[in-house]
Amino acid sequence: MKCVFCQIIDGKMEAVKIWENDQLLLLLDRKPINRGHVILIPKMHVENIFDMPEPAYGALFLAAKDVAPILQKLTQAKRVGLAIEGFGVPHIHVHLVPVNKGNQLNPLRAKEVSAATLRRVQRKFAPAFRAIH
Ligand SMILES: [Zn+2]
Repeated sequence: MKCVFCQIIDGKMEAVKIWENDQLLLLLDRKPINRGHVILIPKMHVENIFDMPEPAYGALFLAAKDVAPILQKLTQAKRVGLAIEGFGVPHIHVHLVPVNKGNQLNPLRAKEVSAATLRRVQRKFAPAFRAIH
C-alpha cells in the first residue's frame, strides 16, 4: 500500500490542490494551524528530508521560497514559518504556515476545517500561485 501522499500524487485520493509542477505538489492542510497553512510535497517518495538527493532537495526549498511571499501576501501574516517532521505521513512534506508571533508552529493548535472552507481558500489562493514554474 502506497503512502497517503503517493496516493494523492497518483490521483487515487482527494486533496485540496493549490499548485503543482512535474516534481512538486502544494496542498491546503485539512487541519490548519493558521489560515493559509499549506504543505509542499515532493512527488518523489522519500521519508527523511536529509535523504533527499540533489537537485530535488534544492528544488524543494527554492519552491518554498517562491510559495512563502505569495502566502504571506494572501494572508497578511507577519511571517511564514516552515516545519518538517514527517512522523504523521512518512513522505516528506514541508509545512508552510502564516504566523504572526512566536510559538504558533505548534501542531496542537491545528483545527480541522470544513470542506467548504477549504474550497473557498483554494479558490482564492490557486490563481495567485500560477506564476510559479
Ligand atoms: Zn509517498
